[in-house]
Parts: sequence; C-alpha cells; structure tokens
Amino acid sequence: MRIEVENEAIRARKKQEYEDLVAEMDAKGYEARLEKISVLFANIFGILVFVIVGGISACTYLMVNGRDSIYDFFGSMNHYLWMLIFLAVYVVAIFVHEFIHGFLWHFACEKKWGSIDFGFNAKNLTPYCHCREALSRPVYCLGAIGPTIILGVIPIVISIFIQSWFLLSFGVIGVVGGCGDLLVIFTLRKHRDCMLFDHPYEVGYAYFVEKQKNQ
Ligand SMILES: [Zn+2]
Repeated sequence: MRIEVENEAIRARKKQEYEDLVAEMDAKGYEARLEKISVLFANIFGILVFVIVGGISACTYLMVNGRDSIYDFFGSMNHYLWMLIFLAVYVVAIFVHEFIHGFLWHFACEKKWGSIDFGFNAKNLTPYCHCREALSRPVYCLGAIGPTIILGVIPIVISIFIQSWFLLSFGVIGVVGGCGDLLVIFTLRKHRDCMLFDHPYEVGYAYFVEKQKNQ
C-alpha cells in the first residue's frame, strides 16, 4: 500500500506503470482501449441523482415517520454545532469512501494491499484510491459500488427506521459522492468480457480485450 500526496513525479510514475501494464497485457494477447467519462455529463448526472435520490428518500422518510418529523430536523442540537459535526463527518466520509474501494479491490489483487495506492490530489483537493492491477468486471464493479452502498444506501435505509434526518442527509450525500462510480458502472454494460484498470490521468478507465475478439 502506498499513501501519498500526488505530485508531478507520482503522476509520471503512474503513467509509466500504466504503460508497463499495457505492454504486459499486450504480451498476454490483450489490447488496451479507453473509456472516457465526460466531466460535464458527470456533473449533470450528479445533480440529477441528488434531486431524485434526495426526493425519494425524503418522501419515504416523511411517509414513514409522519409530516411532523420535519420539525425534528436539527433535533435539540444547536444548529451551528450540528452543521459543524456534519461537515466533519462528511470530510471523514470522503476518506472512508476511498478506503472502501481499496479494501474491496485488494482481495482480488495478486499483491493484495501491495497493489493499492491511496493518494490526495492537491489540485482538486480530492483523495483517491488507485489499484495497480487490472481487475475483472465483477470485482471492479463490486469495489466501485461498495462506498455508495455502505455510505449512501444503508445510511438512508437505517435513517428512516431510527428517525434521523442527520443520517438521511449523510446517506443522500453518500450516494451523490458515489455518482462518478455509478457512471463508470453504467458504462461497463458495454464491456462485458474484459479486464479493467483505472486510467492514471484521464477521467475514465482502460479496458483490456482479447485481440482476436472485436468488441
Ligand atoms: Zn469512488
């Protein structure tokens, strides 16, 4: 496992590692192709998911817990304290999100944790998880959707039962935070029989297909 703050040298190393992998897969009879994801589309998708998931979750919450539960939004807690706690929990959740990716992917890696990198991209202030091995589609999917389920869907469901707006809003943000991952999974339907690899510098991923297969 490597934990690092991304810089030019690291970017160059990741590029080199990617090129080495492409050469290695080429020798095994696989060809690398790129699936790019539009940043604009990802943002629009994020807003849509926020509106839809937020709307459905809040409606379900109100249906189950009654309309009066809206007044319990902040509970008895001081509003500023509530927001501060929320912000802190949210920041921690961003890191936990990346950890879950690495945790789920490492089981399938030949070198286990040795192939998982956690880093922080100082340019856009986001942490990331990068797996240095190409993964099969089911493994890649599981690792990609894991954080959205654990930090999004599960908190939403629990929040409805324990009547916690805090947890509900945490879950909705958890789902929105996983939008990039959901988008990747959505594009995977086109590439069924291939190995996948997070692209080191493009928004998207590389997929390796057997050379004779023309998919
Ligand atoms: Zn993610």
